[in-house]
Amino acid sequence: MVGEKTSSMKIQNYIDGKFLNPIADQWIDNYNPSKGEVYGQIPNSTKEDIELAVTAAKKAFPVWSNTTLNERSEILSKIAKGIFDKLPELAKAESKDNGKPLSLATKIDIPRASSNFQFFADAITQFPSEAHESIGLNAINFTLRQPIGIVGCISPWNLPLYLFTWKIAPALAAGNCVVAKPSEVTPMTAFLLGEICNKAGLPSGVLNIVHGLGQTTGQAIIEHANIKAISFTGGTATGAHIAKTAAPMFKKLSLELGGKNPNIIFADCDYEKMLSTTLRSSFANQGQICLCGSRIFVEENIYERFKKDFIRKVSQLTIGNPFDEDSDIGALVSKNHLEKVKSYIDIVEEEGGKVLYGGEKVIVSGSENGYYLQPTIIEVSNNDCKLNQEEIFGPVVTIMPFKNEEEVLKLANNVKYGLSATLWTNNLNRTMKMSKQLQVGIVWVNTWLMRDLRTPFGGVKASGVGREGGFEALRFFTEPKNVCISYD
Ligand code: NAD
Repeated sequence: MVGEKTSSMKIQNYIDGKFLNPIADQWIDNYNPSKGEVYGQIPNSTKEDIELAVTAAKKAFPVWSNTTLNERSEILSKIAKGIFDKLPELAKAESKDNGKPLSLATKIDIPRASSNFQFFADAITQFPSEAHESIGLNAINFTLRQPIGIVGCISPWNLPLYLFTWKIAPALAAGNCVVAKPSEVTPMTAFLLGEICNKAGLPSGVLNIVHGLGQTTGQAIIEHANIKAISFTGGTATGAHIAKTAAPMFKKLSLELGGKNPNIIFADCDYEKMLSTTLRSSFANQGQICLCGSRIFVEENIYERFKKDFIRKVSQLTIGNPFDEDSDIGALVSKNHLEKVKSYIDIVEEEGGKVLYGGEKVIVSGSENGYYLQPTIIEVSNNDCKLNQEEIFGPVVTIMPFKNEEEVLKLANNVKYGLSATLWTNNLNRTMKMSKQLQVGIVWVNTWLMRDLRTPFGGVKASGVGREGGFEALRFFTEPKNVCISYD
């Protein structure tokens, strides 16, 4: 049973279809953030483990890359079903590892992990390649879309299985073999995925899951000469480091990085819908979603009303153990992260801001050592302060009034990041104008985090390079080769 395994066990690497201890026998503690206590250990894998994974992947590649699309699709569908069948156990494991409310892991994280596999199981059967007839020259071009070979997938801790599978599923669907590393902070559900893949009949070596720290295990993946592409989601500084290492080796790179997303509220919006959605876009997953709207800009004629209503709504949120049914906000992912988030609250005054609500750590009865923080609203007087320019990635939002479209566009774009923006308005012309001018990869209008997996997903500026999602992901994980045939 998955549930029993998660209690105090040692996680192992999944290489060549087998569960293995790390060769150097180095281990890291795994924490339950809701209790602030160690509940297991995970490998800190070295170059030798990555070598083993690459060897297994290399061996598996010729057969896997030549399976029919139907065969591949069927196996991926079985993995999707395997995840879905274990939803309660996986959700519990995710919540324990990450600190997120069990209700969120049950409703969002694990169903989405299953959907990721099902989506790409279907998508690969519909993935077209192009043909171009050179009229008048008697030639026809067609483009092969061949798998790259062995690819590396590296994911963060905030949506552990959700983002891990978002990379792995298209990579496998496209016919690649994968060496994947989940975050060392939240490794449990990635570990449990190995067993599901074996049961689904995924051939040994096609997917290898290796655990460990970024600077040891991750570094060994990005440096390996036979790993030809890296799909990475995580922090902007790590992304820059990966680019520096992998670009001179001419690896294909997809980088999904940090964000500091504007949530722009005009007076003509549907106020109640905006208010309840803004509550979610600010604090879902303890604000630890790259797409959270952490900078809230409100049109000045509804600013005071919004401030009052938002504070009231936020004050009604329940902070508690993630396993309690009525917890809206669970624990932050780690002690280090809690301290980092808190350090921004500590500089509010010197940055010219004012805490309107929250700002304090919370002691949860029965989980006294857990990493809990109140949802926090900070009023800022300008957009240049650190609170509006740096990614805090916790339950902290800033609010600020604006006068008109022109001003708020400047405020929204005046930041190094460019992942997403949310716009609340019922004015069509404004929607069109602003959607075009916002420097981001994703704009949500009168909604937030509504996802259609066929759409391109990713950021501009310091939020990343490349797009995931739909055929974009399948294009990334394949190498196009044009064949030009001349005829008489
Ligand atoms: P992180 O950059 O610290 O770590 C991400 C992953 O990279 C982890 O698996 C880590 O072990 C690995 N890593 C670290 N150093 C490495 C190295 N030298 N070589 C290879 N791998 C290395 O990020 P995090 O703290 O886990 O996640 C939070 C960040 O992720 C935030 O900035 C957030 O915005 C971002 N994020 C972005 C998206 C997106 O889609 N754009 C989605 C989720 C999270």
